[in-house]
Amino acid sequence: MEISWLKVPQWERYDGLLHGFMGRRGGNSVGPFAGLNVSYRVGDDNQVVSQNVCDVKHLVGIHDGKIVTMKQVHGDQIVEVKDKTLKEAGEADGMVTAGTGIHLGVLTADCVPILIVAPMHKMVAAVHAGWRGALMGIAAKMVRRFNNDYGVAPEEIEAALGPSIGACCYEVKEDVTGPLREKWGKIADANIQMRGGKSFVELRQLNRAILESAGVPSKQLFEIGPCTSCAPDEFFSYRRESSFPIAAKKKKPGDRSASSAGSHRR
Ligand SMILES: [Zn+2]
Repeated sequence: MEISWLKVPQWERYDGLLHGFMGRRGGNSVGPFAGLNVSYRVGDDNQVVSQNVCDVKHLVGIHDGKIVTMKQVHGDQIVEVKDKTLKEAGEADGMVTAGTGIHLGVLTADCVPILIVAPMHKMVAAVHAGWRGALMGIAAKMVRRFNNDYGVAPEEIEAALGPSIGACCYEVKEDVTGPLREKWGKIADANIQMRGGKSFVELRQLNRAILESAGVPSKQLFEIGPCTSCAPDEFFSYRRESSFPIAAKKKKPGDRSASSAGSHRR
């Protein structure tokens, strides 16, 4: 089975920008990790994961280099990556780089993978944003970071929000909707749906609205791919694959299985 590689059509014009979202198709993992699991943190066989990472790199044309990932913790820590040889950027949920030949990767299974580019500045970033990340506004924090640390205005930023769980499937309880409504007000209200007395969050739209609230123009925000929970053959989904109770637990879902997304400048 071939690895599927979703790209942002609007970004094809940017010379030297390698980017994309991979699902679970292809790869060598078996069982709950079948097939393209690229996370070493979920209990899969490390050797098989290494092979999967190699397959991804081969497909996208990274012959000499790494894809830097993070130890994602559903926080709002952002790190700058400067070292081409780095394999892991430590505990964080956002990475940014202006380095040539540096590839950033974010692993998700329902949470929203957000790739950010500032084409004029040749800068890229990768963000992991689930409901906790949305609550902390990590996507907006990244936009501010671009502005404050690198002089990149929000109007110069474009972002792609990848495959993630939709309001069709993402049922949550008051412990999620309460804090979201308190923090984001109307933005949260617009992205929480009520059906049959239950609440559902539209996680990707919520993160999109958060990016807009930080000043990124709507026309520069792109949504790529389907709801992860609705597409079992295509994407890992923590919610779908675990008999996970609906109430949020302390240890939030997200890193049990993985899909990947990376971006860089050659
Ligand atoms: Zn769905």
